[in-house]
Amino acid sequence: MAKKLARKSIVKKAVAAVRNRTKPATRSAGSRGGRRAPTPTASRKTAGRGKYVYFFGNGKADGDRSMKDLLGGKGSGLAEMTRAGLPVPAGFTISTEACTLYYQEGRKVPAVVDGQMIENLRQLEKAAGAKLGDVKNPLLVSVRSGAKFSMPGMMDTILNLGLNDETVEGLKARTNNGRFAYDSYRRFIQMFGNVVLEIPKDVFEHRFDEIKKARGAAMDTDLDEAGLREVVQKYKEVVRAKSGKPFPQDPVEQLRGARDAVFRSWNNARAIEYRRIYEIPDAIGTAVNVQAMVFGNMGDRSATGVGFTRNPATGANEFYGEFLINAQGEDVVSGVRTPQPINELEHVLPKAYKELRAITSRLEKHYKDIQDFEFTIQDDRLYMLQTRNGKRTGYAAVMIATDLVAEKLISPKDAVLQVDPESVSQLLAPVFDPKAWKALGVTTKGLPASPGAASGQAVFTADDAVEWTRKGKSVILVRKETVPDDIHGMFVAQGILTATGGMTSHAAVVGRQMGKPSVVGAGALEISETAKTCKVNGQTIREGDFVSFDGLTGEVKIGQVATKPSEILQVISGELKAEQSDVYQRFERLLSWSDKYRRLGIRANADQPDQAETAYQFGARGIGLCRTEHMFFGEGRIPIVQRMILADNERDRRAALNELLPLQRADFYGVFKAMHGEAVTIRTIDPPLHEFLPKREDLMVEIARMEERGTKGNALDEKHALLRRVEQLHEFNPMLGHRGVRLGVTYPEITEMQTRAIIEAACQLAKEGTKCVPEIMIPLVGHVKELRDQKTIVDRVAKDVMKEQGVKITYLVGTMIEIPRGAVTADEIALEAQFFSFGTNDLTQLTFGFSRDDIGKFLGSYQDKKILDKDPFATIDTVGVGQLVTMGVQKGRAARPDLKVGICGEHGGDPSSIHFFEKAGLDYVSCSPYRIPVARLAAAQAALSVKVGD
Ligand code: PEP
Ligand code: MG
Repeated sequence: MAKKLARKSIVKKAVAAVRNRTKPATRSAGSRGGRRAPTPTASRKTAGRGKYVYFFGNGKADGDRSMKDLLGGKGSGLAEMTRAGLPVPAGFTISTEACTLYYQEGRKVPAVVDGQMIENLRQLEKAAGAKLGDVKNPLLVSVRSGAKFSMPGMMDTILNLGLNDETVEGLKARTNNGRFAYDSYRRFIQMFGNVVLEIPKDVFEHRFDEIKKARGAAMDTDLDEAGLREVVQKYKEVVRAKSGKPFPQDPVEQLRGARDAVFRSWNNARAIEYRRIYEIPDAIGTAVNVQAMVFGNMGDRSATGVGFTRNPATGANEFYGEFLINAQGEDVVSGVRTPQPINELEHVLPKAYKELRAITSRLEKHYKDIQDFEFTIQDDRLYMLQTRNGKRTGYAAVMIATDLVAEKLISPKDAVLQVDPESVSQLLAPVFDPKAWKALGVTTKGLPASPGAASGQAVFTADDAVEWTRKGKSVILVRKETVPDDIHGMFVAQGILTATGGMTSHAAVVGRQMGKPSVVGAGALEISETAKTCKVNGQTIREGDFVSFDGLTGEVKIGQVATKPSEILQVISGELKAEQSDVYQRFERLLSWSDKYRRLGIRANADQPDQAETAYQFGARGIGLCRTEHMFFGEGRIPIVQRMILADNERDRRAALNELLPLQRADFYGVFKAMHGEAVTIRTIDPPLHEFLPKREDLMVEIARMEERGTKGNALDEKHALLRRVEQLHEFNPMLGHRGVRLGVTYPEITEMQTRAIIEAACQLAKEGTKCVPEIMIPLVGHVKELRDQKTIVDRVAKDVMKEQGVKITYLVGTMIEIPRGAVTADEIALEAQFFSFGTNDLTQLTFGFSRDDIGKFLGSYQDKKILDKDPFATIDTVGVGQLVTMGVQKGRAARPDLKVGICGEHGGDPSSIHFFEKAGLDYVSCSPYRIPVARLAAAQAALSVKVGD
């Protein structure tokens, strides 16, 4: 999953180029321990505003939808819904600024925040007509986290706060329902005990199961009031034994403890891991929402549920969600009970269902996007507990955005801004080959939570998923249900398969968000995590056995199934007609809207005609980097290249180069042709020559074996000669050694041959009536004289060839800016260069002094210690490397105003780097063919949100 080119080695680069087709990880999901907790801090204003708590209730709210930074997604949604007159229980939001202060003060909430919380609590008591701790009429509240970006299940929540030995009796008396009152109390003690007092959940669960067993209760709901009273008693004993203190009876003390625990949960290990995967800044902190409780567990006229206004997996315009009768929120999302589909609510509680439909459609129109909502029905009365823009798969994102435009709810420009650029790359993910898929029988079926074809070896824990993946295996993570702590395993798995849970369970939500194929709630799976086996319909899946599933249909099969290209790739390759593929048409529609808004040109890094053709089909208009050395690996070429390298005189070297000439000419001809007249930048040879030769150690072993066998004569002599040359070419620091322009300076005949091949190919095309503008690019230039030396050769040979051919073509000579000295002296270099292309891979390597090959050894620690937020080889370091880019552009254009400037390092396909390149005023970005759609969309978003030179 490495995004950057992990090594300079050409072979590895080729592997990386293929891997780059899928969404990159910013770093491997590696070590999880020993991480220092990051602190929400600094750059944000904190104390200035003085208001830390925002009230909502009775149709009025201090906040609104524009205040996500301060109130978090949940808090701003609750405020907005309250303002819109929707049925929202009153409450207040303690802002993210308070969270920042909490950390700045050494994990203590300052008195000013606490004071405002108490004032708001009084206001809430008034609005709710009940008082916290009042024995007769107790107010109960929920305390829930809510950051700006949703982080499903990563932080903590406490429900039913305010219950104690006395108020529980008050609740019983008011509701005339002792079972409900004690069920609420036992849930509260468990949540508070776990979240605030940090007592492991299973200690409570064991007690609960013991009592259930002793009383012959099969389900939780079979326990009567007496049973639940016993549970409460046992739970209180657990709290006393584990925390050394009795369960706190003072509700304000409970509230303070819960508030602080939510702030603390911002920095639990899984939240940190989640933020790292999704690049959510640590500094933003979470808000805390305190809200009057409404109860979905009050009996058969009560329910709780979650849903979406459209299908978040496929994007289909259908009401979608799940609910549970007589339950509280965590029962639905935890996957412990499998909930009912939301449409069934129409039959069970029709009035509330009708109202829910009306409200959620209104919300979708208001926010102009798919809504993810939470609701509770208490005795037939509907309450809305949350609304926010729903997370969706990449597939659904494209479907929804194009549908919303068709429904005239949003404009094409809104659609371009709405879709995460990575979504379009999800549409390129493989599907099963239908024949191979059909050949296997269906073993079982689950809920199709996130589309895509997944095939891999079964593992049963998240840690095993990471371990097996490290060993190069593709795995399917098979779990009874996933929990937020499984995030690292889910991240590396090919797919996620669970036995319980619904379409909104943790596995489903997170799987969709990761764009990972997921099937959940496959009830026939009997999983034993300890035995690492899974029984299903008479068969047993053991660790390492192959399992495959289709995330679009929910079908699960035992065995390995080959995958085939997605519909989009089938259209691109001509196997399928565009008219036959709805998804392709939408994909193309969205990208052509993007093209209207983007300023940056999009080119491809491609070395072969077929890659260039694919890139053109994806919308690339030009090649930004053709690495000519990749062509040397073509069939039968390596021996010629080796002869060129082994030559110890110019004549022999020229002889080998003459053999390479027609091959290179044919390559260039193919690439020019595939680009239909668009500019093609061809780079002269770059890597150290030893990369084309066998390894010294391998040769030594080979020679020893030959000698042992008694081999003599030519064959052995050749091997010895090869070994000598390999030893001569050995360098201590090849990346800083004899490579790039330095090769052309020492062996001008290589530059001559490559120029001749380029210009001859262009002349041939010109004769055939096809225009092409070759851009000849010299790599690794740090001094203008290096470029001048090479340019003289290029111009001389080009002139000769055009004369020989009797054709005049336009060509440009330029350079890569990838050495810091090149950026610093860009004004001098621009006098010789007609274009620049920033090689941000080498520029990053040389600016930081981090080896591209070895950064993996320490990047994890750098990220853990917050020295670096992101892998600088994946996302441009705007402060350091970016400064050199900006300087290079400015100095270069000052010397040559019409200088063309692009970027061809891996950052060219990274959305946030593209934002930077837009600002820096580059003319184009160039990236691997499969990243072109992402780059088109990201470039449009960048143009719409930044002004060049900002
Ligand atoms: C670069 O250095 O950014 C670049 C594109 O060249 P290469 O990766 O081939 O060194
Ligand atoms: Mg380079």
